[in-house]
Amino acid sequence: MTSRLYKPLPSPHNPPLTAIVIGAGLGGCAAAIALHHHRHQVLCVLDKVREFGRLGDSLGLGENAFKLLERWGCDVEEIKRIGNQSPEMVIRRWQDGKVLARQPLMDMAGYIGHRGDYHECFLKWVRERNIPIRMGSEVVKYEDVDPQPIITLKSGEKLSADIIVAADGIKSLARPLVLKQRDDPVSSGYACFRAFFKPSAELKANPLCNMYLKQDCVNFWIGPDTHVVQNTLRNGEEFNWILTHKDDGDIPESWFQPGDMNEVRRLVSTLDPTIREAVKATESCLDWKICYREPLPTWVSPGSHRIALLGDSCHAHLPTSAQGASQAVESAGVLATCMDMLGEDGKGKENIKIATRCYEKLRFGRTRQSQTNGEDLRDRWHGILKDVDEHKEIDPEDVKIKNRWLYSFDAEEDARTRWRSIREVIEGEFQAGKISPLC
Ligand SMILES: Cc1cc2nc3c(=O)[nH]c(=O)nc-3n(C[C@H](O)[C@H](O)[C@H](O)COP(=O)(O)OP(=O)(O)OC[C@H]3O[C@@H](n4cnc5c(N)ncnc54)[C@H](O)[C@@H]3O)c2cc1C
Repeated sequence: MTSRLYKPLPSPHNPPLTAIVIGAGLGGCAAAIALHHHRHQVLCVLDKVREFGRLGDSLGLGENAFKLLERWGCDVEEIKRIGNQSPEMVIRRWQDGKVLARQPLMDMAGYIGHRGDYHECFLKWVRERNIPIRMGSEVVKYEDVDPQPIITLKSGEKLSADIIVAADGIKSLARPLVLKQRDDPVSSGYACFRAFFKPSAELKANPLCNMYLKQDCVNFWIGPDTHVVQNTLRNGEEFNWILTHKDDGDIPESWFQPGDMNEVRRLVSTLDPTIREAVKATESCLDWKICYREPLPTWVSPGSHRIALLGDSCHAHLPTSAQGASQAVESAGVLATCMDMLGEDGKGKENIKIATRCYEKLRFGRTRQSQTNGEDLRDRWHGILKDVDEHKEIDPEDVKIKNRWLYSFDAEEDARTRWRSIREVIEGEFQAGKISPLC
């Protein structure tokens, strides 16, 4: 159900601008919802997979995303209800679980829940707006041409729209087209083993570790070059742990690579026994290499300027940032707002290139700050206990998560405030025939 307070915007363009969104992940769904709210016409959302399972495990959504989703008429209470209900999270010492800091959960990820459950809500919100989601529709080719870019599906079908939003994830096919070059993943030097399961009755009865299985809770154990995150959902019905560790191996960049539980048991041999037992009792896990991409010099196709990257395809985040999905929602709001602002002079369709170029300039700095915030946290956690005497008191501020400043931001308001000045810059660049790179 859309929220009772929902007020759709008046249409800024007549006829409305048309859009196709590629990728029905959280970023693509957010793009479709935002464009619809701003009264642009979303022709369809395409996804290559035939159906979505309950994929992934814990994912965070912050207030910065909620305030936009709510404005767009989404009932965010649905998300809040299925997220972790713990009021706080605890940061602990690796070897013995000693509490180093406590923080409200809202300081970190906002609401942590299962990615698949959150995704299901986003898909439902798209369907409620009668936006067609076409599954099994893999885009295999982009033609970056005026007046409308053309995409080709694996079936041979061709589609076009005034703007194409490529929310096609970390392994984006659109990205090399936009960049005009290959961009291989860069290893972050770390990988995660991750597991999500319903704990057995036996595990729940184990007094050594059942303190983390009785109710919703979130704990982190930090140690030299490693950390473990634990998240218990649905009052102990579901349990998730993620072990981040140094890695220079060459496992593929995949969400589905099986992990080696023997290696996990070796890595946790020095971990606080209360959580070690729960990890050791796990039957199977996934091995997820944390790859990133260097910041991109552009998010928009160079020919027509009408194919725009969004979400993980242009600003993937480390898990410690807890902002990958929230930043995708912000980007969706800014892109839709920029397309709106064009309505002012009645030349919307001709000027889409101004909107897309303003979008990337408005978003780049903010996503970099959010990405580096996650790198800073990982480095603080992995460094603080190195070569430190066991009895040394650690200042809680040194291990706390510092995400609160990210949440008060209103990405759409920021876009409207800065629109005029950024637009002047972009128009100057078009006149000079040179778009300056983002970095
Ligand atoms: C399977 C999976 C599991 C994940 N698990 C977690 C997790 O546990 N925790 C976490 O924090 N983050 C996880 N993420 C990442 C998180 O979902 C994203 O950071 C965030 O939601 C923003 O994602 P996005 O929509 O930009 O990209 P994604 O979520 O990657 O979605 C991209 C979508 O594009 C589709 N697609 C790709 N190429 C094409 C093509 N050529 N044609 C048509 N469709 C295409 C894909 O099928 C996919 O549905 C996961 C992502 C995936 C795909």
